[in-house]
Amino acid sequence: MTANRLSLFGPPGSGKDPQATRLAGRLGLVHISSGDLLRGEIEAGTPLGEQAKPCIEAGDLVPDEGVVRLVLDRLREPDARTRGFVLEGFPRTIPQAEALDAELTRQEAPLEWVIQLEADEGPVLERTAGRGGRGDRPDDKEEVVRYRIGVYREWTMPLAEYYRSTGRLIALDASQPLDDVSNGMYRELRDRGLDVGEPEVTEEERERESEDY
Ligand code: AMP
Repeated sequence: MTANRLSLFGPPGSGKDPQATRLAGRLGLVHISSGDLLRGEIEAGTPLGEQAKPCIEAGDLVPDEGVVRLVLDRLREPDARTRGFVLEGFPRTIPQAEALDAELTRQEAPLEWVIQLEADEGPVLERTAGRGGRGDRPDDKEEVVRYRIGVYREWTMPLAEYYRSTGRLIALDASQPLDDVSNGMYRELRDRGLDVGEPEVTEEERERESEDY
C-alpha cells in the first residue's frame, strides 16, 4: 500500500476533523491535527503551550515558528513516514506551506494533494455554535468564530492559489451535508489513483463520528 501525503484546510465548521478522520481511516494514514497537537502542548504546560493558549482563546493563529516545529517534528516520526499522513489544519499560512514543502522535499516525499473545504459563513456559524453550546471549545463562541473566519480569509485562503498553481489543489463545496462532501472527496481522490475503497460513506464511518460531530 502506498503511503499517501495529504493536507486538508477550511474555515471553522467546514468539517475538517470528520473528513480528515474518514480519510485517515480509508487510506490507513496517520491523522495529524495541528489544533490537537497545540491543545496537547497546553495540557502538558510546555512553553509552546503557554504561548499558544491566549492565541487559541482569542481565535488568532499561533506564530508560525512554534507550530511549524511542532508539526514537522511529528511528521518525522516513523509512523508518519511509513504509513503516510493527512494533515488537518496545517498549513494555515504561506510560510507554513513553504516550510512543509521544504521538509518534505528533504524527505523526498512531497505533499501530493491538498483538499480545500469551502463553506459560507452561515453553515459554519451554525455548526461551530453547536459545538460552542456544549462548552467543549471556548474558541467556538460566536464572536470568536466570526473572528476566526476573518483570520482564515486573510491568512489561510491564499493557500488555495499556492496549491492550485502547483497542481495539487482539490476544492470541495463543504456547505453540502457531511456525507456528500466525503463522497465527493473520495471520488476526486479515486480519480487521481488513490485507493479509497468503497465509493460511498459506510454505516461504520457514520457511527464512528456521530458522537463527536
Ligand atoms: P483547530 O483545532 O484546527 O480549529 O485549531 C484551533 C486553533 O489552534 C486555531 O484557531 C489556532 O489558534 C490554532 N492553530 C491550529 N493550527 C494552527 C496552525 N497551523 N497555525 C497557527 N495556529 C494554529
